[in-house]
Amino acid sequence: MKYIIEHMEEGFSEWVILEYSQIIREVGKQNLILTSLPAGTTDRDIPPALLSLGLQWTTKECVDIEGGIDKSKVCLLDPAATEELVPSDSETYDYFVFGGILGSHPRIDRTGLLREKYGFAGRRLGALQMTTDTAIRTTQKIVQDQTKFEDIQFIDYPEIRYNKYESTEMPFRYIVDSAGEPILPEGMLELIKHDAEQSIDDLLL
Ligand code: SAM
Repeated sequence: MKYIIEHMEEGFSEWVILEYSQIIREVGKQNLILTSLPAGTTDRDIPPALLSLGLQWTTKECVDIEGGIDKSKVCLLDPAATEELVPSDSETYDYFVFGGILGSHPRIDRTGLLREKYGFAGRRLGALQMTTDTAIRTTQKIVQDQTKFEDIQFIDYPEIRYNKYESTEMPFRYIVDSAGEPILPEGMLELIKHDAEQSIDDLLL
């Protein structure tokens, strides 16, 4: 299986770097490619953390990688698709495309840009918005591990407590680990806490 992220954010925020790093660790650097980076991008524009994990990236669009890929073998993971991803989709599709998009609440349909541009078959991973790393983790469980969506344990809109008094609700669905905690990229908990404390400090200024 190849996982393709069409990068749709401007540059690389800390959040994006942590998500992409985690995805490389989980699917393997040889199975992930980041596509559609702006023309003129060089290695100097890619965060060192991602380069050191062996990120493969290109300014080409996803359809043009490997000398052009067969569209019938490509599945777009699309929150607005009408069909759900199932284990047998692994027999039809070799490439799974995701939007490299930071989620928003309420959800804005930016994946729609990919749907309209490429016309790939689309599959949904349930009705709730996931982070890109969660969407890839879920896809991997379904098409590689052959686990049905309904057998994966999720937590919706978890509350992340960042001190004794305050917490923040994450407006996404996450897979849970064996302790029932949402699986977040390494370093994400610290980043969420840092950002939350920062905005409180800004309010106090
Ligand atoms: N508001 C965004 C949108 O739809 O444009 C949600 C983006 S989501 C944070 C990033 C990517 O994860 C999406 O482009 C999609 O590929 C995948 N994704 C997230 N939730 C999904 C779901 N429930 N079903 C299918 N794909 C999903």
